[in-house]
Amino acid sequence: VWSECLNYIQAAIPKNDFRTWFEPIVPLKLENKVLTIQVPTYYFYEFIEEQYIKLVSRALREVIGAGAKLEYSVVMDQPTSPSPAAVPRINYGPAPSHPDLRNRVVDKKYSREEQPKIRNPFVIPGVKKLDIDPQLNSEYTFENFVEGDCNRLARSASEAVAKNPGKTAFNPLFLYGNSGLGKTHLGQAIGIEVKKRYPEKTVLYVSANKFTTQYTDSVAHNSANDFMHFYQMIDVLIIDDIQELAGKEGTQNTFFHIFNHLHQSGKQLVLTSDKPPVALKGMKERLLSRFKWGLPADLQAPDFDTRLEILWNKIRKDGIQISEDIVHYIASHITDNVRELEGALISLLAMSTLNKTEITFDVAKSVVDRLVSKPQKDITVEQILDKVCDYYGIKPELLQSRSRKREIVQARQVAMYFSKNFTNSSLSSIGALIGGRDHATVLHACKAVKNLKETNTEFKHQLKEIENLIRK
Ligand code: ADP
Ligand code: MG
Repeated sequence: VWSECLNYIQAAIPKNDFRTWFEPIVPLKLENKVLTIQVPTYYFYEFIEEQYIKLVSRALREVIGAGAKLEYSVVMDQPTSPSPAAVPRINYGPAPSHPDLRNRVVDKKYSREEQPKIRNPFVIPGVKKLDIDPQLNSEYTFENFVEGDCNRLARSASEAVAKNPGKTAFNPLFLYGNSGLGKTHLGQAIGIEVKKRYPEKTVLYVSANKFTTQYTDSVAHNSANDFMHFYQMIDVLIIDDIQELAGKEGTQNTFFHIFNHLHQSGKQLVLTSDKPPVALKGMKERLLSRFKWGLPADLQAPDFDTRLEILWNKIRKDGIQISEDIVHYIASHITDNVRELEGALISLLAMSTLNKTEITFDVAKSVVDRLVSKPQKDITVEQILDKVCDYYGIKPELLQSRSRKREIVQARQVAMYFSKNFTNSSLSSIGALIGGRDHATVLHACKAVKNLKETNTEFKHQLKEIENLIRK
């Protein structure tokens, strides 16, 4: 019955609205023409009452017939109501001529006038704005964020979002990339810029872990609804390291509703993650599909010139005395993490302050060499084979066999690619060690991997993960 109603409703409203407001509804039972549907939140119930009640009642009359009634069961009820099972009963029939069906809310507990506690700007206009600390660090501005090819898209999307929060195609803005490449910095920069341009907007930066803790605490204190209402008041919500929600179903469900509410009301969401949406594990499909609505923008490791500029920026800002060859040495040896790049400078500074000495090239070199995890020449083809097999979950024998299965061919090619780039072994010795192939096969493999890397972001990301494994 419900799916028939859905068909009716689906035909009448935009697809996105349907997905947001009707897909999450679970039909519970139909008894004596009373259909009970489960909605995730009190707000959901309210929104449907407010926006869609005529449509829903038409659908009910169409499918069930005159005299149809609808009952809601609210999963997350208001803390103030006596029992989460309490549901308003609404009578939709039989007279199709009722001017305003909303007046037929029977249960007084839920009449809107008596529920001023629902601080929901969408439903009750004119409510006082939240006054909250947005949790922003004033250092993390756009001005302090050095632009390079590695971050151009992410940076300009972030700026666009900060200028017109909620009004660009980037909603959610999904920033992803490895650790230390500036996700937190950019997320914060958006918050700072929005606050500068629109002081009246409510901005909140929160890590996914803190969000989770707050949620769990609110459940423990029976105030999950307050938690949800609080988040639904925010104009620009920045959640850092969203991958941390993996496997946390309760938090994911709540975030799902907050996401829908904010998105639906034109509020801006900014999410950061160490992986693109397609590669996130332990995340509900319906959340993932929303992550893909906006723009996933990646942050790559900076190239040499960008690394230099980041270093010089910091040196200028902190008034550090340091020679140019040392800066070059740092920039050429610390290649894939801006945090470590800055870390090297800070270590040097600390050391020279402690010892009251100048930073000499030798001291700098020893600090940097200690920070760089492992010099490449130490890596062997055998180690690479191990790590690649680990990563793909393939038995080493298979990789050495003649198998032409797709994933095995790919693993083999990746192992060849890293062997060529990370070791001093010749093409023919690499071929000999990996499946007994000749040097032309190895060369071909390297080209194939390079091509795929350039056209396929997901694959590129995998390569980066394998590289990290190998370097460990
Ligand atoms: P992530 O959140 O991706 O792990 P962060 O945003 O914490 O990385 O960045 C690590 C450090 O590097 C921070 O101090 C940040 O200011 C700095 N940083 C990263 N990218 C840049 C950049 N493009 N320009 C200037 N500083 C940067
Ligand atoms: Mg971070």
